[in-house]
Amino acid sequence: MGHKKVCLECKVTLNRPFDSGSELTYPCPECGKSMTLLPHRFRPPKKSENKKWETIKFLIDNGFYFQHIYEKIETKNGVTSYQNYVAYPDNLRDAKDFVLKYKSQARQ
Ligand SMILES: [Zn+2]
Repeated sequence: MGHKKVCLECKVTLNRPFDSGSELTYPCPECGKSMTLLPHRFRPPKKSENKKWETIKFLIDNGFYFQHIYEKIETKNGVTSYQNYVAYPDNLRDAKDFVLKYKSQARQ
């Protein structure tokens, strides 16, 4: 299990081997700002795909760090069940719907 370090400004992605020092910050090699950690399954778009990067930035600004989002979370008889992972949107219009719909699952 590793993470990816991403700089949304420079559209740079670096792999980061797992370590427990989650408080450490990783400066971007290009601009020096601290990079955002995303799960390993995050697939960065090409540098030229500005719309996709814009969408990713919007999602992260709203608390969606590519963690798993579930279509439905139900609690029945004290048991909470999580159903179906939702795919992350790759355009801004869908992302706006996504953020509204799954607001309760956003990271604070
Ligand atoms: Zn940077």
